[in-house]
Amino acid sequence: MEKRDYYEVLGVSRNATKDDIKKAYRKQALKYHPDKNPGDKKAEENFKEAAEAYEVLSNEEKRARYDRFGHAGLGNSGNGFSGGMTMEDIFSSFGDIFGDAFGGFGGFGSSRRSSRRMNKGSNLRVKVKLTLGEIANGTEKKIKVTKYVTCSVCGGSGAADPDSISTCSTCHGSGHVTRVTNTILGQMQTSSVCPACGGEGKTITKKCHACYGEGIVQKEEIIKINIPAGVGKGMQMTVSGQGNAARRGGVNGDLLVVIDEEEHQSLIRDGNNLIYNLYISIPEAILGTQAEVPTVDTNVKIKIDPGTQPGKILRLRGKGLPEVNAYGRGDLLVHVNVWIPKNISREEARMIEKLKEADSFTPKPDKNDRSFFDRMKGYFE
Ligand SMILES: [Zn+2]
Ligand SMILES: [Zn+2]
Repeated sequence: MEKRDYYEVLGVSRNATKDDIKKAYRKQALKYHPDKNPGDKKAEENFKEAAEAYEVLSNEEKRARYDRFGHAGLGNSGNGFSGGMTMEDIFSSFGDIFGDAFGGFGGFGSSRRSSRRMNKGSNLRVKVKLTLGEIANGTEKKIKVTKYVTCSVCGGSGAADPDSISTCSTCHGSGHVTRVTNTILGQMQTSSVCPACGGEGKTITKKCHACYGEGIVQKEEIIKINIPAGVGKGMQMTVSGQGNAARRGGVNGDLLVVIDEEEHQSLIRDGNNLIYNLYISIPEAILGTQAEVPTVDTNVKIKIDPGTQPGKILRLRGKGLPEVNAYGRGDLLVHVNVWIPKNISREEARMIEKLKEADSFTPKPDKNDRSFFDRMKGYFE
């Protein structure tokens, strides 16, 4: 499905302030809140869409990237990158936004949250630092993580043997108890997790000795992650099911991989473009030369024409970084600087003095020179 523009989703202008965005999101979230629209799939979609828009626009870095590159800049076009948010994500990230309207964290949606949370392990978050070369080509990383895995002795049940598991007498196996609460929207019947069994509907009389009844144990594991080309600092990849195992059965949490970037020794990254500051000498600028320019993989030779002006930008098409999860590649922009020496010898000064008198060294200004605009092309919209 084609994603809608985030500003359009929240109904705010592109220069909306942080506060405008928060207010707009709150309005949407209250309107489409699942507890006000029970069983309404469309409302749930709208609720999720608004949360996703808010998640991006409330974060300065993500917003800037979105403004520049649209949805593609956030890498949410598939391939395991964080795209849609689950209801749990929304409540755990933005639960506070419902705060005053729903009586705090324990209000709306909490019962649904906590009873489900029992069955899902927590997410693990790791940071991976990549070189420009790895980013340009994509890479496979092996990451060592310490995480909860299912106990192999009891198979995750937490019980010493099958006979020591019995049905909970407080909730009779349902895992929750029902209560009635008052909210500004009227009386609500909410069910909460059974305090006796913690929502499992079962109690264990004799616990497994290896995991002390938890059904999970900590273990160090090496996880292989395939990172696609073109990722950028701050992007997050979700490797589903590689997070912590859940207590006594249930589904694993996810492994969230946050991308970090190592600085390149001579290239600057600007989105998918790379910038290289080339320095040539005054004689080279006048007579022309051949210069060597680094790219992420190798060095390339470029020709500098005689009479090259300082500040000229040479565009090496396709020598930049690939788009993440898409076709296309950025360029390598070579910014030609002419090195003007500050300290020169007496003899050098004498040579320069002579040049002062030479006719071709006298500036011949061109009022209509518009090369400035060409140089800046792509930098201004
Ligand atoms: Zn065990
Ligand atoms: Zn119970």
